[in-house]
Amino acid sequence: AKALGRGAWCFYTEEMTQSARDRLTLESRLRLALAHGHMVLHYQPQIDIATGRIVGAEALVRWNDPEEGLIAPGRFIPVAEVSGIIGPLGEWIIGEACRQGQRWREEGLPALTVAVNVSPRQFQLTDLVGCTASALQETGFPAAMLELEITESALAEREDEARQTMRRLRDLGLRLAVDDFGTGYSSLAQLKRFPIDVLKIDQGFIRDIPHSADDMAISAAIIAMGHSMGLKVLAEGVETAEQLAFLRERGCDSFQGYHCSRPVPAAAFAALVRAQQAG
Ligand code: C2E
Ligand code: CA
Ligand code: CA
Ligand code: CA
Repeated sequence: AKALGRGAWCFYTEEMTQSARDRLTLESRLRLALAHGHMVLHYQPQIDIATGRIVGAEALVRWNDPEEGLIAPGRFIPVAEVSGIIGPLGEWIIGEACRQGQRWREEGLPALTVAVNVSPRQFQLTDLVGCTASALQETGFPAAMLELEITESALAEREDEARQTMRRLRDLGLRLAVDDFGTGYSSLAQLKRFPIDVLKIDQGFIRDIPHSADDMAISAAIIAMGHSMGLKVLAEGVETAEQLAFLRERGCDSFQGYHCSRPVPAAAFAALVRAQQAG
């Protein structure tokens, strides 16, 4: 079977490979899961390095299957992308993230930004601007507290369209982050042409700090470059105190990672924020 543009499968043959068959099964299960409310968002704290405070949450989707339990996004986002389910799934994710963000406000939590992942296909092919505008309007969550994470690779294709979509998103009042930065070979000159607020250093560059001199040089360069362009820089995948100390020394603005917390359900996230307020 071969995937066509908009998720139509063009033909099946007797020799359909096992992996194609698995994918079909997964595709139909995915549709049902979405319809039955089996998708859930977990939230990972984003910490301001200067103050040590939680200032935001990245929403990360999980599939809560009644039989298999929690299924990681790496197992179904690629299928959602190829099949087109990313449209309705992405819409649900943005709506749910805004709903949760607004709930936390109503519960009296301090101001928190909520960051939502947008996959390349969702960015290129769905009405992301319209869908985000409705989510904000329907939930009452302030646009200024919403951040959308777009991967570097999504910017590389159809640059003019990408830039236009980003401008329209920015006009809604939200912030834009480039996810997995450093993995996609963007040049400084390219980056300058996009309306971006935040660079997220890919966790691949953080993992081997302090053992890899190269990765330390790259991370330091991304921080300096981001700042020279007026951007905030966040490091992801921070697991150790040493990594955090290095980033602090280099002036990195914020971080995420197991050193603070894994992604957790919404109630557990709120508890983390409350514990910090109390302490
Ligand atoms: P990502 O956006 O780069 O998310 C970071 C991934 O690293 C998450 O995995 C997170 O749980 C994990 N992580 C966080 N801190 C650490 C750490 O200290 N060490 C290590 N080793 N890992 C850490 P997760 O949740 O499995 O998500 C994987 C990818 O799936 C995401 O990468 C993103 O590309 C995609 N994804 C997740 N949620 C969504 C979503 O709601 N929409 C879309 N379109 N994609 C999503
Ligand atoms: Ca992300
Ligand atoms: Ca990332
Ligand atoms: Ca990633």
